[in-house]
Amino acid sequence: MNHRNGSRLCAALLMAAACLLPPAQAAAVWPFGGGAPDPDEDPGRAAARILSRAIRIRTVNPPGDEKPLARMLMDVLEDADVEARLIDTPSAGSKPGRAAAWARVKGTGQRRPIVLLSHLDTVPADPRGWAIAPFEGATGAGSVVGRGALDAKGVAVVQLMATLAIARRDTPLKRDVIFLATPDEETGGRLGAGYLVRERRSLLYDAEYLLTEGGGVQVGEGGTSPVWGVTVTEKAPCWMDVIAEGTPGHSSIAPPDTAVTRLLDALARIRRFEPPIRVVPEVERMFAATAQLAPAENREGFRDLSTALESDGEFRRRFLAKPGRAALVRNTVAITVLSGSQQTNVIPGEARAQLDARLLPGEHCEDFVKLIEDVVRDSTIRVEPFLAFTTSSSPVNTGLYRAIERVAARLDPGASVVPRVIAGFTDAHYFRDLGITAYGFVPRWLPPSETRGIHGPNERISIENLGRGVETLVAILEELDASD
Ligand SMILES: [Zn+2]
Repeated sequence: MNHRNGSRLCAALLMAAACLLPPAQAAAVWPFGGGAPDPDEDPGRAAARILSRAIRIRTVNPPGDEKPLARMLMDVLEDADVEARLIDTPSAGSKPGRAAAWARVKGTGQRRPIVLLSHLDTVPADPRGWAIAPFEGATGAGSVVGRGALDAKGVAVVQLMATLAIARRDTPLKRDVIFLATPDEETGGRLGAGYLVRERRSLLYDAEYLLTEGGGVQVGEGGTSPVWGVTVTEKAPCWMDVIAEGTPGHSSIAPPDTAVTRLLDALARIRRFEPPIRVVPEVERMFAATAQLAPAENREGFRDLSTALESDGEFRRRFLAKPGRAALVRNTVAITVLSGSQQTNVIPGEARAQLDARLLPGEHCEDFVKLIEDVVRDSTIRVEPFLAFTTSSSPVNTGLYRAIERVAARLDPGASVVPRVIAGFTDAHYFRDLGITAYGFVPRWLPPSETRGIHGPNERISIENLGRGVETLVAILEELDASD
């Protein structure tokens, strides 16, 4: 850690207690307990205690190693007499193993279950740039800090606490509440959620609804009213290799046409390529729903996005200037991995790049690959997709969506509820493909400065957010039940 930088960040995060101590002791600031929280314990503090332990169990994927964390969550659930199971998942290369945590609070069976889905794995964390070591689960000044605090151990813990609260009710709900925390989401979920829907589908008990990450409550920095973003669909990945071949040899004579030069020409064309603008109905609806909250100059355009993008050049320029917005109205392609020779003085026989393309809902990777081949205009170059799926949308005319709207009106007056589309992807698509209505929605109130912790440094969540998240999620489940 850069010391000066770290000190400044400590001050910024107001974590005086934790920052004064070396990392190992900082973690010990928080008390550790083994089992389920006392029903009388403040839910935010209980969630923080469990989250702190969860962060200390490293689950960086690859290799994931999620089994010990799955077991820890199961222990908490079992200690509260909730039906819970450890579900082994494919574990090649992982010593402690990989697994999902599953639990169920049975309802009366009058309605089909709702699944609360999270994931156990995280992306890596480079401790440089962090004010506090990322895997200590340090707690101080009202927050839990560490890799996974938001994405997605914090989600798992809030859903676990809500599951416990439902289990402690005197009367059962009409539907089962199924808690499911899976491995492997961060690398595409094929060995986690993908495996479970393929091989262990019976664990879902023909669920009707699912709530997972990918949406939440956006809080404006400037005191604007909160927006509850309920994600109904996502862009889909279309990842591909671009492979150029040529004659290998000694580089001292610098031949003009090699695998590397061909690849560079192809990538230069891909870089200049601008995919056309297309406004899908879900995106049109999302901007129309937020129009009244937008700056005055954008309001008219947001109300009728496709027309405004077509006919108002000034608006189009403003709209596309923000990459996060531009990504919602076109397919995108980013050049990420590059490889050529291993040696400075060797011309390689092959050079490769990887492209991360993200497609609008309803588009197919094979069509986009053909488009890229046309852009490259070199028949010696191969373009081969290696990860792709198509996405579908969940409807908004559902009991669950209306329950979220009613809870928002009651617990967060002045907030608006908006059906969202996100440029990233989660495991939700595996469940939408089964016909389950899946929403990306985790009740937590985050300004943009805090969402940057997702996959970034100093990821943290406030204890207040954890407590309010549990309370709101329970309210949504009970509201749904009351209207069922
Ligand atoms: Zn995640």
